[in-house]
Amino acid sequence: MVDDWVHTLGVRYFSELSILAQMMEETGEVARIVSRRYGDQSFKKSDEDHDLGDELADVLFAIVCLANRTGIDLSQAIRKNLEKKTKRDKDRHWKNPKLTGHSGGQS
Ligand SMILES: [Mg+2]
Repeated sequence: MVDDWVHTLGVRYFSELSILAQMMEETGEVARIVSRRYGDQSFKKSDEDHDLGDELADVLFAIVCLANRTGIDLSQAIRKNLEKKTKRDKDRHWKNPKLTGHSGGQS
């Protein structure tokens, strides 16, 4: 879907460095919203109509563009990554009392 969009409306992919810069810029926009919504800062008038979902989609778009530009099959990469995490962290998070609310240790 992204590739179709880029090759019709976008003409061609930007360079890898430009896509990376765009990704960082969009990540900053996500950070700004999260910081103001969940952190201690308040929204400025100009921030109030920003949409977190839309900004996350901007980051994802840049990630997909970088993957496509560099010949990475992102669907395959995420499957492989989740397999890695599953092997590595199979029990880790269930044993984390911060997540489960259980002390996990001896009382
Ligand atoms: Mg944006």
